[in-house]
Amino acid sequence: MKKLTSQNMIEMRNLSKFYERKIALSSLSFSIKKGERVALIGPSGAGKTTLLNTFATLIKPDEGELTLAGIPASKLTNRKELAKKVGMIRQQFDLVGQLPVIHNVLAGRLADWGFFKSLWSLIIPQEKQAAREALEKVGLADKITEQTSKLSGGEQQRVALARLLLQKPEIILADEPVASLDPARAEDILFMLTKLTQEENQTLITSLHSVEYARKYFTRIIAIKNGKLFFDLPVHEVTDPILVELYSLEELELHES
Ligand code: ADP
Repeated sequence: MKKLTSQNMIEMRNLSKFYERKIALSSLSFSIKKGERVALIGPSGAGKTTLLNTFATLIKPDEGELTLAGIPASKLTNRKELAKKVGMIRQQFDLVGQLPVIHNVLAGRLADWGFFKSLWSLIIPQEKQAAREALEKVGLADKITEQTSKLSGGEQQRVALARLLLQKPEIILADEPVASLDPARAEDILFMLTKLTQEENQTLITSLHSVEYARKYFTRIIAIKNGKLFFDLPVHEVTDPILVELYSLEELELHES
């Protein structure tokens, strides 16, 4: 396999997104290389979700340029091609609760299969072996036939990870993937997410509330505040004073409260 360690998986220049009365992203420029593990932090409303959704091509930027794995984001309109480039997990695991675990894992292949094969897979699970292996990797081999909604939050997030293992996108986006989990389960998921993406040399970008987790599991921290880049540093260069400044309330907000 070709080694492309220095390849930029995400490249953006002067990227902005405006809502009616609000600038959600303000002229952001940076790039992320293959294999990097980036934590995206910043106060609520900073623009983290908007940025991740822009990388997922769910949101179209109003200004600027965005390239994903070498392809302009605006050209990634084919679902199958997009699924090979970008995969996402969220806080609300977006799994189908009524279906057995295996169907949710196999959904990682939907873009590859086309509509009829996907429908068929709901009756006779195809590629059972691949799904079983993915579930083994996330420690859920014994839950393959269980109804997904009966699993705990941490287990459901593992199912979402197993689904990503089948999808195998080059870029993995995670929007607050551990926000609804207790600390032990949160660490378990972050450990697994970072380990599995490292094994596949995938690029991982995760928004997080917890600076502690960002420091522990990621190599680079990008902080945004009010839609603007606040800092972009290797994890060992992130100091406590700069974090205090990041999360400090603006003067105006202090007066208002
Ligand atoms: P974060 O994920 O960092 O909490 P978001 O990306 O959700 O921040 O939001 C950034 C800003 O954009 C916030 O001020 C939010 O209110 C605003 N915003 C997000 N989505 C919309 C929308 N659909 N319509 C209007 N404003 C929005």
